[in-house]
Amino acid sequence: MSTEFSGKTAIVTGAASGIGAAVAKMLAERGANVVAADLDIDGLKTVVGALEANGAKAVYQATDVADPGAVERLVNKAVEVFGHLDLAVNNAGIGGPSATTADYPLDGWQHVIDVNLNSVFYCLKYEIAAMARAGKGGAIVNMASILGSVAFAQAPAYVAAKHGVVGLTKTAAIECAKDNIRINSVGPGFIDTPLLSKNLEKDALSAIAAMHPIGRLGRDDEVAALTCFLLSDAASFITGSYHLVDGGYTAQ
Ligand code: NAP
Repeated sequence: MSTEFSGKTAIVTGAASGIGAAVAKMLAERGANVVAADLDIDGLKTVVGALEANGAKAVYQATDVADPGAVERLVNKAVEVFGHLDLAVNNAGIGGPSATTADYPLDGWQHVIDVNLNSVFYCLKYEIAAMARAGKGGAIVNMASILGSVAFAQAPAYVAAKHGVVGLTKTAAIECAKDNIRINSVGPGFIDTPLLSKNLEKDALSAIAAMHPIGRLGRDDEVAALTCFLLSDAASFITGSYHLVDGGYTAQ
């Protein structure tokens, strides 16, 4: 077991499934105390139970990241339970409806922007305040997507939200650099998680896999590895930037 994050406390949102669960596992394996947040309480209990069974310190908090009050309570809980907040991965997200911009439902637009963009603002707002109060710096990763830099037809809200996450990350990063709080975003290609498998048939998944020069979907642990690197002291001069893990998708 690595001790890279020993004594540090990390919030991970969307931790009950997919990329968030993989990040929570990797952080805990490397010594972090984990505060796992999600809407899915059963999933949270399973993830946190597995972390504890491996000897990690972990707690969960049912949280709707689209609710600023719930996000503030999440950050307060991390500080109450572990005494400080050092790391955060703002990862919870949804795919949303599939429709062209002209046909996109108004309520679907609002929901995707709330869960995928406004939530990241709420998380940053309360996480940065807690880190700045403690005065010991910190590191934050916001989960964007390749769709934070390129388009995808019939996903206007998702693409707009993820482009927004990239811009918000840059802004918060330059504001926080003086306090040694580093903030970066990660842009995964299509990753084999329930977000994809719940929404797409097998044929569609194969077609999407083939759009990556590496010829397959990514894995959640491949995204977790980049995320943990950006949170680590090895990334001490990296802030305000957007890092792809996309099997070559956006290089084409
Ligand atoms: P996932 O397996 O569906 O996990 C996302 C988790 O977030 C789920 O447990 C989900 O709960 C939870 N969640 C949804 N809305 C929430 C809310 N309002 N408050 C708190 N938790 C909420 O998806 P994933 O693929 O790991 O995606 C994680 C992140 O990576 C997302 O931001 C996604 O946009 C991004 N990403 C994914 C891919 C990909 O191809 N998979 C590619 C690029 C970027 P429910 O299951 O109850 O909804």
